[in-house]
Amino acid sequence: MKKRYDQEDSYCTSFITKVIHCEKRKDDYCIILEKTYFYPEGGGQAADQGYIGEVFVYDVHEIGGEIIHYTKEALEVGKQYECKIDWKRRFDHMQNHSGEHIVSGLIHKRYGYNNVGFHMGKVIQIDFDGPLSIEDCRIIEKEANQCIMKNVDIVASFPDITKIDYRSKKEIEGDVRIVTIEGIDACACCGTHVRKTGEIGCIKILSVEKHKQGVRLEMIAGMRAYSYLAKIYEENHKVSVSLSAPMEDIATYVEHLKEENERLKKEKDTILEEYFTLKIQQNINTEFYIDYLEDKDKKAIRNYANMALEKGYETVAIFNKHEDVYDYLFLSHTMDVRRIAKMINEKANGQGGGKEDMVQGRIHCTKEEIEEMMGVIVNGR
Ligand SMILES: [Zn+2]
Repeated sequence: MKKRYDQEDSYCTSFITKVIHCEKRKDDYCIILEKTYFYPEGGGQAADQGYIGEVFVYDVHEIGGEIIHYTKEALEVGKQYECKIDWKRRFDHMQNHSGEHIVSGLIHKRYGYNNVGFHMGKVIQIDFDGPLSIEDCRIIEKEANQCIMKNVDIVASFPDITKIDYRSKKEIEGDVRIVTIEGIDACACCGTHVRKTGEIGCIKILSVEKHKQGVRLEMIAGMRAYSYLAKIYEENHKVSVSLSAPMEDIATYVEHLKEENERLKKEKDTILEEYFTLKIQQNINTEFYIDYLEDKDKKAIRNYANMALEKGYETVAIFNKHEDVYDYLFLSHTMDVRRIAKMINEKANGQGGGKEDMVQGRIHCTKEEIEEMMGVIVNGR
């Protein structure tokens, strides 16, 4: 296997080297460099991106010991190029990968669980082979951030693995690269890491959920964690200003608002029911009950129609106005209301349907037009 310069110096972002191979494969060009600091996807860490000369490298893989850089344009074999690694992306990977080692190391130390899966996407997902609660994670998160503040060394080396204790996802032999975080962790790893824990800045555990035999934990670190927390702060600040409530107590305040909202909803339902009862009582007693409302919710309309049916009406038609359309609901014990719906849908550019004893829909017309149509239906049936 070729020497991994990216692992030797994770901070090298620009270098000059020769293209030794360029091959077209479908829409891509596969480039091999004489010497490269580009990180190939592996060990859960995403590949680097960057430039070889002016040509964008969008992906990097290690295949059969060769590091392949994928581009959309060809490069000249034998020519020297200046190469640049997208440092913002790489450093973000370093901060998050090192952060992951701290969290996995601390969980292993405290609970003895193993990291059995690791994926770096928008958030860092780590799978462990044992149960953890969110409270456990809060303790780990605090310790992880204390480890950042201690600013201890992170060192990659190739020690005699028979003589040390280290974490590894699989059985390995021979030369094994061990990443050690002083006093916290030693783990077999091919990734790029920061030199000191302080460079991680901060670690935030976002969630923990049951997964297979253990849990899946989601976390972020570094600038990514800062940006996320800053965004959360901004949103909370807006809520705090809008509610005139202190940010520290915002959850309690929102809880009170929810309770108040529930109480008001119940109060509104009671008032509406009393109002509907009065309306039904005042209506001249016919078998056909028709009424017009405005901006009432569906549940209230349904209750109203049922109340009228219970009071002895055979057929009930409720029209509920929203801006310039009417929603309708027809219920009946004695007639097929689909017939009425069909008739008014045709006349008033409407749509809707349902069962023999219940239909609902929407029509586009005025109250006068509805009254005229209903007059024909009631009198002419
Ligand atoms: Zn690692």
